[in-house]
Amino acid sequence: MKFETKAIRIQSDRTSQQEHSTPIYPTSSFVFESAEQMAEVFGGEMEGNIYSRFTNPSVREFELKIAALEETEDAIATASGMSAIFASLVAFLKVGDHLLISRAVFGSTYKMMDNYLTGFGIEYTFISPSQDIDNWDELVKPNTKMLFIETPSNPGLFIYDLEKVSKWSKKHELLLNVDNCFATPYLQRPKYFGADIIVHSATKFIDGQGRVLGGVVAGSKEIVEKVFAFVRNAGPSLSPFNAWILSKSLETLAVRMDRHCENALKLAEKLQAHPKINKVNYPFLKDHPQYLIAKKQMSQGGGIVTFELKGGIDAGRKFLNNLKLLSLTANLGDSRTIASHPATTTHAKLSEEERHELGISPGLIRISVGLEHIDDISEDIMQSLTNI
Ligand SMILES: *Cc1c(COP(=O)(O)O)cnc(C)c1O
Repeated sequence: MKFETKAIRIQSDRTSQQEHSTPIYPTSSFVFESAEQMAEVFGGEMEGNIYSRFTNPSVREFELKIAALEETEDAIATASGMSAIFASLVAFLKVGDHLLISRAVFGSTYKMMDNYLTGFGIEYTFISPSQDIDNWDELVKPNTKMLFIETPSNPGLFIYDLEKVSKWSKKHELLLNVDNCFATPYLQRPKYFGADIIVHSATKFIDGQGRVLGGVVAGSKEIVEKVFAFVRNAGPSLSPFNAWILSKSLETLAVRMDRHCENALKLAEKLQAHPKINKVNYPFLKDHPQYLIAKKQMSQGGGIVTFELKGGIDAGRKFLNNLKLLSLTANLGDSRTIASHPATTTHAKLSEEERHELGISPGLIRISVGLEHIDDISEDIMQSLTNI
């Protein structure tokens, strides 16, 4: 089956009610017919649900769909994108291990390193996005176990060459862990290029309507089993309600992403020549520094456009205050277009130097291009620019 069909037609078994659309299974536990059956399911000799911290039909439907769409053997859902990332690290790294991680990762992923991983005795080294892969060998230590990257990165839209990075990781026998949140499996399938672990914040484009938090880790059966053991014991499990929402959302992921990308490209092209803008960043614009890599590994450029306002911090604030239609909010990947100013919000705690390294200039604006009519989206942005 093709992507769109899998996203729609994979669903849990119909109940005796013959419902067409799958129901939600809000139950904390499941009953058994006999003591023997209960013992067999607990002992792992028979398949079956026991307790919703372990498995739940609503959650399983979402996981099976993600695995089908990422073309991995299996997937395990979690309560948020951050718990998916945390689980994908601690299920494989233990005291004395070393992690290589791109510096251009989501803010909370970045903070997780110093705040928690080092406390567990896990070492890490940041790789700067400007550091050429030919110079990465010297960063590998005898105890290095994993490489974690995000591509495209939030909010710098830096793109790693998945094929090259994967070959390099294999050469050093490292697990390659890719945050595929910005692209979604519809635009990019890291497994195809050799990634071992794929993580998502399902809160973003997968939900697509700004309603629920969720996360997922996809990979081989062996990989997912390890993450599942962590989730089952530590408990960052996805709720059946959120799983049901997310599974329904996947049914429309392809059509939504097509429109997000179409609107984003139109907006990026329109803003390019604007006198109040220094530079527009979008993976599918020819002047994006990794345009050719983006073209090779992504089917479209995604739903996020960023641009650098002339006039720095002050211009950024004015731009946000002038907006009438666009929302000022922390989320992205919503049907509603969202504007944010990373230098004064999500990345305010970093030093100017650190922000520079991540491509976050004082006047950088991030637009998560929604599904409203493109004329209304660009009209609001244009009037706001005029009034800075
Ligand atoms: C939002 C985001 C996360 C964290 O996901 P939550 O669902 O908010 O926990 C991780 N990675 C990227 C790239 C994100 O945009």
